[in-house]
Amino acid sequence: MEICRLEHIHKDYRMGEVVTPLKDVSLTVHSGDFIVVEGPSGIGKSTLLYVMGTLLQSDGGTYLFEDKDVSRFSDSEKSELRAGKIGFLFQDSALIQALTLRENLLFAQGIGQKKDPAQADELLRRFGLEDRAGFFPYQLSGGQRRRAMAARALIHHPALILADEPTNDLDEHWSLEIIRILKEQAGSGSAVVMVTHNSRWAEEASKRCRLEDGILIDISQTAAI
Ligand code: ADP
Ligand code: MG
Repeated sequence: MEICRLEHIHKDYRMGEVVTPLKDVSLTVHSGDFIVVEGPSGIGKSTLLYVMGTLLQSDGGTYLFEDKDVSRFSDSEKSELRAGKIGFLFQDSALIQALTLRENLLFAQGIGQKKDPAQADELLRRFGLEDRAGFFPYQLSGGQRRRAMAARALIHHPALILADEPTNDLDEHWSLEIIRILKEQAGSGSAVVMVTHNSRWAEEASKRCRLEDGILIDISQTAAI
């Protein structure tokens, strides 16, 4: 099932000089996909995820989510889409400082939705945080915070999971574990788009792309190294 589709997406930043991280990017994402987008730092990977997450409006092209043109959405429709269908594993997404870990997860279950503490606890367990449920974010290590953000990103069963270098700051064990959990999510019908500056996870991908000069190239077939 198709979840979302980028067609000829163009994005400029105009802050003095014009930077064009996305010139003409097309990508179709289906449920079950685990798409890895590689590219060096500064090339536009995060920008791509911001557009896919409806946090940033492109300057050209079309972005369809479940066949609906997102550029026609009001702010509240976009907000509803994000809260209901998209899971963000971003480096700069923060936990709410005034809430404990469990409360952070329950909050992310969605406004107006029935809270499911058992599910929050189950996710905390999967991420090795069961004994930290009552801790506030400041009481956690950097790696624990990143794992907590990953747990929070999955709590509302998002159709699309956007992961921006999700293994940064994590040790070997938890890097492998995060990738395993993301693959598991794809296996259970979500779609995962993960961007990374290293090619380490290439073999995990169901589709491998490279962002280069504002264009997204499918390198699944040609991937030798
Ligand atoms: P990556 O995630 O691959 O490191 P980014 O998408 O963060 O790349 O950035 C791509 C380019 O766009 C960089 O040159 C960056 O400096 C520039 N850029 C990113 N965000 C902004 C912004 N809000 N305003 C101006 N330029 C930006
Ligand atoms: Mg980035």
